[in-house]
Amino acid sequence: MDTAILTHEQIRNYHPKDNCLEGKIILVTGAGDGIGRVASLTYARYGATVLLLGKTPSKLEYVYDEIESLGGKQPAMLPMNLESACPIEMRDMANRIQREIGDLDGVLHNAGILGELVPLENYDVETFQQVMQVNFTATFMLTQALLPLLKNAPSASVIFTSSGVAKPRANWGAYALSKLATEGMSRLFTQETQQTTQLRFNCLNPGATRTAMRAMARPDEDPMNLKTPEDIMSAYVCLMSDDSCGVQGQVIDLQPK
Ligand code: NDP
Repeated sequence: MDTAILTHEQIRNYHPKDNCLEGKIILVTGAGDGIGRVASLTYARYGATVLLLGKTPSKLEYVYDEIESLGGKQPAMLPMNLESACPIEMRDMANRIQREIGDLDGVLHNAGILGELVPLENYDVETFQQVMQVNFTATFMLTQALLPLLKNAPSASVIFTSSGVAKPRANWGAYALSKLATEGMSRLFTQETQQTTQLRFNCLNPGATRTAMRAMARPDEDPMNLKTPEDIMSAYVCLMSDDSCGVQGQVIDLQPK
């Protein structure tokens, strides 16, 4: 297991061909803002039909309009609060996608929340549960619900989002633990599916990126010194394209020191 046909360096520096996602159907969570918004626009720009899942409908509508104005394929909006959505809702959504749109060639699990940055000793338990729910448990439930659609596609790709603090790093609390658990989940799904399907699971760690979440985590930092979501999109496209078939069980750091 854990084979990589492309090296991490090649994935980071991938040069996508214009139509490399043509015909693909890709669901992005947290599509309304930050990295998820830019990934949605980028997937559409390379030919994919993008299903925009997110909490705030007005943000999804904005991204929907952006995709239409850049001439992309008509996207679909899937408003869903991952903090409260239950497995039945997720399975209903999966059935609706299957009926109305078709099989899924890719899922980018990108939605996330930060929680607090304090030692575990002082960590608020309710916040802990919220962070684990949005960043980890809902990611698991959604992957499980979407698996039949992913298995039907010829070579689908699932991208989970990790972080440099998944080592884990002190004072990053539930956020660090949720990312550590996500990396483990990606490896388990890889082990459990690689003998029987063409499906692949990988984790991307975007590294410090100029978004609202990063500004909340590091208010002291000058955002202009950070990479933008646009700067790191090569790897996001690479892992959704057929050029990355065979890359599985990897955790890829997009800004290694
Ligand atoms: P943002 O805060 O900019 O965006 C987060 C997205 O997640 C938003 O679209 C938000 O929707 C969505 N979201 C949050 N809660 C929910 C929920 N309950 N249900 C559905 N959607 C939800 O974060 P980033 O773009 O910075 O982060 C994207 C991913 O990258 C995250 O997983 C993060 O952990 C990871 N990451 C980011 C780094 C960085 O430096 N930026 C570094 C390492 C990892 P809404 O706006 O509607 O609330």
